[in-house]
Amino acid sequence: MRAFLLLACLLSLELAAAPDKLVGAAAAAPAVVVLHDITGPMKTNAYLLYDRATRDAALIDVGGPIDALLAVIEQRGLQVRYLLTTHAHVDHVQGLPAVRARFPRAQWCVSRLEFEATAFYAQWEQVMAPEEAARIKAGMAADAALAETMSFDFARLGQPDVFVEDGQTFPLGGLTLRVIASPGHSGGSVCYSTAGILFSGDVLFHRRIGRWDLPKAGGRAVLETSVRRLYQQLPDETIVHPGHGPSTEIGIEKTQNQQVKLARAKT
Ligand SMILES: [Zn+2]
Repeated sequence: MRAFLLLACLLSLELAAAPDKLVGAAAAAPAVVVLHDITGPMKTNAYLLYDRATRDAALIDVGGPIDALLAVIEQRGLQVRYLLTTHAHVDHVQGLPAVRARFPRAQWCVSRLEFEATAFYAQWEQVMAPEEAARIKAGMAADAALAETMSFDFARLGQPDVFVEDGQTFPLGGLTLRVIASPGHSGGSVCYSTAGILFSGDVLFHRRIGRWDLPKAGGRAVLETSVRRLYQQLPDETIVHPGHGPSTEIGIEKTQNQQVKLARAKT
């Protein structure tokens, strides 16, 4: 418990610093700006990406209120074109209804598989392992924010505008965004890459990988294959912005990740 409180404390400090914190403005691509905020009881990273020249912007994984990012969008005169969802677990989509209402012309992009899974995610009490469901319910009793998150009505998300598919590309100002299907943490998880940057959702984190044991996840082997695919497809200097925790780089994770290195461990 003490460790949890410490972690929460550190993260809230980071949250306070988030509005002015430039995360991963890739040296190789100074025309791109990435800012982030940490939101919701699961401390999910929401990202704002924009083309500095054209002011075209995308929001990635709106997991809760993103007031700091909304202020930046306003102050800098950005046009939000896309709301990109890596996967539809509640902590990555809870803030979307409010943001869709505020930017009605922005296109919500998610994979079809993931959107269809929301009906299943809504039944977490039935589909999760009983001991984990009990743990979450105990947490909800003690934490109103967690209770609100876990009671989220997925129907409020509405219909997506774009069902993204592996290899699909679309323009954002002068940038090109590319979709990389990355199943394993959830069946329809995708990552988004552009200009030396990867938004990796809950697939690849700093020094570890996402959970593979949640309902409809896909399993460890599937997730490992997805992570190796990222290692193989992306240049080493690619900056990785994950769904939780600090950013990292592909080249570092290839050798330093505690769960999946590029080379398979010898058995
Ligand atoms: Zn997730």
